[in-house]
Amino acid sequence: MQVFYGDPMRLTRFTDLALRVLMRLAVDRGDSPTTRDVAATMQVPYTHTAKVVARLQHLGLVEARRGRGGGLALTPAGHAASVGGVVRELEGADDVVECEGATPCPLRSACVLRGALRRAQEAFFAALDPLTVDDLVTAPTGPLLLGITGGPPAGRQAGGPGS
Ligand code: SF4
Repeated sequence: MQVFYGDPMRLTRFTDLALRVLMRLAVDRGDSPTTRDVAATMQVPYTHTAKVVARLQHLGLVEARRGRGGGLALTPAGHAASVGGVVRELEGADDVVECEGATPCPLRSACVLRGALRRAQEAFFAALDPLTVDDLVTAPTGPLLLGITGGPPAGRQAGGPGS
């Protein structure tokens, strides 16, 4: 039985970073931080953050505002998004074990464990379904985020809106 790296029982770094970005943007400081601001606040590489932001924009959860003072912001859908839905979208629906791989498991047509693992995977997602992105920044997380993003946003860089 091969357990996938990054299976839905253990979030990929991409999904974890996406949730961090969503939390940062859910905190309203009256500004629109750039991708570099968010990367600096969350202490993650800019290139990883930029890929995550692009995916969240594609999902309609984040928007890049143009013009003076432009930057990133959550859309209304982003504020209200189900955390379970976001995790499902980013992690995919692959089984947590590889039953049908290059060397298919001989038990796969009648495996009790396979069904149990699927139910456990769904329970994992379902536990996150009732939470919204805004819920994630209620106390104590929200005040902590406000504390570490205190003061003016980090220096904006050239490279277009939200960069
Ligand atoms: S069929 Fe069952 S025993 Fe075989 S790999 Fe899948 S979960 Fe494991």
